[in-house]
Amino acid sequence: MQTAVQKAIYPGSFDPFTLGHQDIAERAARLFTSVVVAVVNNPKKQPWLPIETRLQLTRNSLAHLENVTVVDFDGLTVHLAQAHQAGTLIRGLRALSDFEAECMMAQMNQQLAPDIETLFLMASLEHQFLSSSAVKEVACCHGDVSRWVPKPVAAYMKTHSPLRPKPTAL
Ligand code: ADP
Repeated sequence: MQTAVQKAIYPGSFDPFTLGHQDIAERAARLFTSVVVAVVNNPKKQPWLPIETRLQLTRNSLAHLENVTVVDFDGLTVHLAQAHQAGTLIRGLRALSDFEAECMMAQMNQQLAPDIETLFLMASLEHQFLSSSAVKEVACCHGDVSRWVPKPVAAYMKTHSPLRPKPTAL
């Protein structure tokens, strides 16, 4: 049997990049020859951080991994995988919360590109309940988020807060 090219794509919003994301990227980097972390540039999702900032913080958080590169993209993940000749999409899976949406996405991607596999890595126990949204929620109320995000993200968030949008007038 022929061995597939050992390259994987790990896509996500990373708004912001957390220790849960870092853990998945590090584990993927051990499994594959090279990993492309792809930061989704989709303004429709109305991210807190602009794409340039998400890219920079993700890059700084993964600088210790020689076989990992970080790019931005704004189309279908399977097209990005094809462009990079990557045969695997990596997704992180937290208990319960991710299952349905991830299943749906994996099924869609399988139909779009049957030769690309989605590989789920279970979130580590300590990251099961960690999400970018929760981090933003705490930061909004001036809470310390440094235990949940890599150092570059913690440093950034000390001076930048994802304030709640102002309520609109009636
Ligand atoms: P998306 O908008 O694509 O879901 P996210 O940045 O929220 O982007 O997540 C990117 C990937 O990382 C997803 O597969 C998600 O399930 C996974 N992920 C998010 N948080 C964690 C975590 N705490 N532990 C492991 N995987 C996670």
